Amino acid sequence: MSKPFSIAIHGGAGTIVREQMTAELKSAILAALEASVQAGHRILQQGGDALDATVAAVEVLEDSPLFNAGKGSVFTHKEIVEMDASVMHGKEKDAGAIAGVRHIKNPVCLARDVMRKSDHVFLIGEGAEEFAFENGYDYTEQDYFYTDRRYEQLQTMKEKGAFALSESKFPDDRKFGTVGAVALDQHGNLAAATSTGGITNKKYGRVGDSAVIGSGTYAENGNVAVSTTGMGEYFIRQTVAGDIAARMRYLKQDLVTACDTVINGELKDMGGEGGLIAVDGSGQIHFAMNSSGMYRASIDTSGELSIKIYADE
Ligand code: ASP
Repeated sequence: MSKPFSIAIHGGAGTIVREQMTAELKSAILAALEASVQAGHRILQQGGDALDATVAAVEVLEDSPLFNAGKGSVFTHKEIVEMDASVMHGKEKDAGAIAGVRHIKNPVCLARDVMRKSDHVFLIGEGAEEFAFENGYDYTEQDYFYTDRRYEQLQTMKEKGAFALSESKFPDDRKFGTVGAVALDQHGNLAAATSTGGITNKKYGRVGDSAVIGSGTYAENGNVAVSTTGMGEYFIRQTVAGDIAARMRYLKQDLVTACDTVINGELKDMGGEGGLIAVDGSGQIHFAMNSSGMYRASIDTSGELSIKIYADE
């Protein structure tokens, strides 16, 4: 009998307005979430590594214009795209992260290669891109990342002088569209991957939690793998992913208690809206959020597929 394996993914948490969701958009989102979770699950089924599964799942979402990562990334104040990503493998606690890259089609792959092919954990901006091109990555023009939807969102934000998403022109304008995946493979490895365009109208090289190991991404074999989404400024200060791992490691809290305590406790009290996905060493999956929704999907240890959008589902 094969050992248990499972995978969960997210396409961002936040306020998702049911009344504004068209049937067409909903089915496009559900299809992308399913394609993503299936891409990762196929790798696990074949006995592949948990990190490869999470990267494959995240790549699918990065290639979709519907999520705030890769192709669908939001614009900075200067009307360009700057992306952050990170990965962690729980066996040796290996990790890779990149921030502020502008010309990389799939930032999650670069984070993985920082982990596997460099002596470092975290590379930023031009240096990260130099490393990418030395390792055979194509230079992707900024035009590739342009979408009308993100441009309109930026203009609204500029008029308001705001940073986070706050106008509901689209059903998920108040959503943090970061993407992520967590998985347990048949060898007992846990892994997590997260990728984002950050927040609309960001300035000054702002970097969020998605690039920060221990905040946006964490994995530790025999314990837990976590990927988060929400306003990064809060998730960094609460070291959300690392706090969940610490609660399970030292306090012996179970997966659900650890995740819900962090998301609905101090993080929420300080104003940190968002959510996370997590999988423990037995393959149990948990989705936690303090927002009205989170695009999410999973295939559990019994092979059951689940795809959801709203918190009350
Ligand atoms: N966590 C991301 C950031 O702050 C945003 C998101 O989740 O969409 O950059």
